[in-house]
Amino acid sequence: MLEATSLSRNYGVLKAVDKVSFSVKPGEIVGLLGHNGAGKSTIMKMITGFLEPSGGRVLIDGEDVLERPEKVRAKIGYLPESPPLYTELSVMDYLCFSARMRGCMDESLVLDAIRATNLQSKALEQIRTLSRGFKQRVSVAQAILSRPKFLILDEPSNGLDPEQNQEMRALIQKLAEEATVILSTHVMQEVSAICDRVLIMRSGQLAVDKKLTELSDSKIIKLNTCENLSIGETLKNLDTVLDYKEMAPGSWDLNINGNLNIAAAEVVEAMVASRFPVHAIGPKKLELETLFHHTNESEGSQ
Ligand code: ATP
Repeated sequence: MLEATSLSRNYGVLKAVDKVSFSVKPGEIVGLLGHNGAGKSTIMKMITGFLEPSGGRVLIDGEDVLERPEKVRAKIGYLPESPPLYTELSVMDYLCFSARMRGCMDESLVLDAIRATNLQSKALEQIRTLSRGFKQRVSVAQAILSRPKFLILDEPSNGLDPEQNQEMRALIQKLAEEATVILSTHVMQEVSAICDRVLIMRSGQLAVDKKLTELSDSKIIKLNTCENLSIGETLKNLDTVLDYKEMAPGSWDLNINGNLNIAAAEVVEAMVASRFPVHAIGPKKLELETLFHHTNESEGSQ
């Protein structure tokens, strides 16, 4: 379990991270989203103990990151935004060196990390000769060397091509079978594809903390019927439907007052009574992208 409580970091007068609290359960994959400068990397640096908070604290399995740095760091794998790689070394030598730096003398850990990141064919090549995608894998391999329970990945897909991106997502999902993962990204599809939960930062503050399964709008029902039907007369007699709008031919958004299931049942009944077909009906899904834009839209108004 990872718990951040009222975590803050100031740079002079700038509140880079401002009283952010969240917790992450074992096995969760959490996506950290936010515009440039929203505070994502600063949070990750504080979680991993690389940066001291100005206020608040982080507990990893109940232990304070600052009070028990060595014990906590042994449980954490960290992929920084710009990972330092010794590019003159081969992949194998670099990983062995990184392992020794962390006090891991067991060579099988290096071999496991190479296997997990699918780097077998590159193990003896100099890092500087590798493509960006493979260099990123080497960075991930160093992050998982000690088989960490917590993986903190700062923009793992940064600069990867679509195919490498796909491979990175598959890799993160595989790693998440044995670790709790927090990843920061600017790619919404990445969060939608692999994360259980999303945290959206806005100007140093945590604006949204939501499970992806909860990303539906609790007030709107989407109704699909035939084009060119005047269903207004039918809907307007229902107390549960506050108003309605045709968003595309035959596709209506109904603004609901009360329970969505009860309202949907009433709408279907009314449509059938009026001999109108119902092709589909259900809660309107809120796209992650829409949520992100709504969240940041209100920034200017504050
Ligand atoms: P990006 O998506 O661009 O990586 P981010 O969300 O990770 O951005 P941070 O790197 O956490 O954002 O930065 C948050 C704020 O803190 C920014 O305004 C940044 O300029 C500021 N900041 C970060 N590091 C320092 C520093 N060492 N000194 C002063 N200000 C800093």
